[in-house]
Amino acid sequence: MAITYEEALASVLPIVRTQEVHRVTLADAAGEILAMDVTADRNIPPFPRAAMDGYAVVWTGRETESAYRVIGTVNPGSTWHGDAADSDCIGIMTGAMVPPPFDAVIQVELSEADPGGGVRFTGPVKRRANIAEEGEDVRKGSLLIGAGTLLSPHHVATLSSVGQWEVPVYKRPSVAVLATGSELLEPWESAQGPMIRNSNSHFLLAALKGLGFTEVRYLGIVPDDREQIVSKIREGLDCDFLLLSGGVSVGDVDIVPDCLSACGVRKILHKVAVKPGKPIFAGESPGGGIVIGLPGNPVAVMVHFHMFIRPLLLKASGTAEYLPKPIHLPLASSATNKSGGKKFTIARLETHGGVTRVAEIPSHGSGDFVSAGRADGVFEIPLGTVELPAGHLVRFYPIWGNFLSKEG
Ligand code: AMP
Ligand code: MG
Repeated sequence: MAITYEEALASVLPIVRTQEVHRVTLADAAGEILAMDVTADRNIPPFPRAAMDGYAVVWTGRETESAYRVIGTVNPGSTWHGDAADSDCIGIMTGAMVPPPFDAVIQVELSEADPGGGVRFTGPVKRRANIAEEGEDVRKGSLLIGAGTLLSPHHVATLSSVGQWEVPVYKRPSVAVLATGSELLEPWESAQGPMIRNSNSHFLLAALKGLGFTEVRYLGIVPDDREQIVSKIREGLDCDFLLLSGGVSVGDVDIVPDCLSACGVRKILHKVAVKPGKPIFAGESPGGGIVIGLPGNPVAVMVHFHMFIRPLLLKASGTAEYLPKPIHLPLASSATNKSGGKKFTIARLETHGGVTRVAEIPSHGSGDFVSAGRADGVFEIPLGTVELPAGHLVRFYPIWGNFLSKEG
């Protein structure tokens, strides 16, 4: 009996364990997963900050009525102290601390030189105009980045601003990759007759690298031979994850599940109501590692690396959010699902007249991985839905997209 895609994920996620923690400096922080809550060490902004170049005045509401005397200047990084009458102002630059008793900043564009040597203001301002108030963005002590956040360059900026130059991050799990199939040769070998080149392993290795996994062991190719498969599986079980492709279906030579069982791997699931990829195997090794066997079909491997394996890998890496996040977009044309399960269809995003639609990529079925190379991601047709009309809002997962375009 096939279980749903959601049930499949829900049955493996609970046994995924995180790794230890180590510290990295800012230069290595992007792409890592933060292992502590980071809070603000001071208010942001930390002082009332001029948001414009101009003049600081003591607000009266009568700024345009008479000339002002300029009694000083304050630049970013310096301070100014003194008393000021209502007719006094100081020059102030963006980023400088607005000193008391001033309580409004008039931008330089609203000023002109007064023949008497001072300045005149040509437009009225409100009290506290052009002042970013202390703590208006963030109060001291409040949470800025939660534990389990996958750090982006933007987070590196936040960490820098609060003095966190060395932070704890989770270690990534180790991953082994093995391709099974007697028809397989490596890309650097000459392929003839019934032989094909192994693309799955090299896709998986590239995808793991892209996700920041560095402890990756490539176990090569094994033919559909029990003894050889078992021996390679044993090697792979030293890692936290073992990812296999091929040999998990119902053909005579699909012996991977049996071989895994012979190595003590406990089966969690073997059939998922999802296309591509119905025969997905997931199990737990005697040492607590996770074993995923995907069918050899390269599109299934590509889709389920993102939709099934990536959530597990990210959870093992300590991320608080690990499920793929869909965007709801309309379909460019009708789409069908004859699979009897959930279907993930490869698609491109097309924008015409200001509307972005999901356009299915014409392909010759789920083995057509070259077509997948033109995709931005996949959209979902739910289990039980046979056809969706053009314009229907679907869940689109931007799993491949670089979102670059020739047009503006
Ligand atoms: P299998 O799941 O072993 O029945 O394989 C399904 C299809 O995927 C077959 O056409 C295989 O030749 C192909 N295939 C299996 N492994 C790979 C691989 N590593 N790279 C590319 N294609 C593969
Ligand atoms: Mg095979």
